[in-house]
Amino acid sequence: MLFRDIIGQEKIKKRLTETVKNNRAGHAWLFFGPEGSGKLPLAIAFARYISCLNPKESDSCDTCTSCIKYKKFIHPDLHFSFPVNKTRDKDTVISDGFIKEWRDFLTLKPYGGLAEWYESIGLENKQGIISTEESKRIAYKINLKAYESDYKTVIIWQADRMHDQAANKLLKLIEEPPPNTFFILVSEKPEQILPTIRSRCMNLKIPRIEDVVMRDILMLKHGLDELKAGEIARIASGNYQKALTLLQEPEEYHYCFTRFRELMRSCYRKKIPEIMKIADELASLNREKQKSFLNYSLGLVRESLIMHYDQPGLVYLSDEENEFTYNFAPFITGDNVVQFKEELTKAAFDIERNANGKFVFLDMALTISQLLKQEQKK
Ligand SMILES: [Zn+2]
Repeated sequence: MLFRDIIGQEKIKKRLTETVKNNRAGHAWLFFGPEGSGKLPLAIAFARYISCLNPKESDSCDTCTSCIKYKKFIHPDLHFSFPVNKTRDKDTVISDGFIKEWRDFLTLKPYGGLAEWYESIGLENKQGIISTEESKRIAYKINLKAYESDYKTVIIWQADRMHDQAANKLLKLIEEPPPNTFFILVSEKPEQILPTIRSRCMNLKIPRIEDVVMRDILMLKHGLDELKAGEIARIASGNYQKALTLLQEPEEYHYCFTRFRELMRSCYRKKIPEIMKIADELASLNREKQKSFLNYSLGLVRESLIMHYDQPGLVYLSDEENEFTYNFAPFITGDNVVQFKEELTKAAFDIERNANGKFVFLDMALTISQLLKQEQKK
């Protein structure tokens, strides 16, 4: 994983390389931000740059002995911790017990989230944890002399999955780290990490990948035309792994579109039984698909607002989306767009927290129905 392999995030890359060049890289970092934005690839590229024997202006050299081992994630001074749990095949809660699977995951799905990781190790219906045993293990490893590099790096992926006792142990390590040791914590839920740990880390927000950047990469790397790339970028909502999954399931965005159109029509007409039927159907999807639907809807609302203000050059839509948005745009205005977006975002938030999908979608639809009604009256 080199900086140049990472999608977008140019400012972040520049900031990270600068801190190394100026010898100002703090020994503890927290990379936080949404899933699929490239936090883990960035953490690895950063560690690799620190360890590279012949670093270039903006990236590692890719040829030194350190780089060669980093490339395969086998450098002896690079350590990973990540959530695991006992599976059918493995009776351990230590990350190293899953290191082969982890290296495969980094190779195949470096932008993957917890769901993809759990699936790849067969952790069905169980949550992974970063255990107390694991933190003891980290302490042991970093107190050993560095093997080959001048630096040791510990990357803790999904650091919020750390057991309380493990977190306290880690806190001590971060407070008094052995020399030349770097910790990079990676998290989508930084608020769930001990505040005392957070405050000792350099907090670096890794934002979602911008839609335009995502669209361009889908065209360049995956050979999509502009329209298709735009559609996928809109649903993927800054998550590159999600975009890759959508490439394999092209029917998903069509599904999102037809359901959104149906739902808006029913909301507009205030047809409660129809609204309930659609809410039921959406609630029956799995959580990831429910979130996709909401992300897609947010994107289309955004496009409708742009269209409302007559800037069609900025809108990237398929023919049927275009036709629908043309009719829908008059109802999305500066007055209601904020509330519209809030409703969709709140629904996504509630779904994430396991709220009952039926109620979430129904509540959302009823409020949207009100918002559309208000515009109608004007
Ligand atoms: Zn190198």
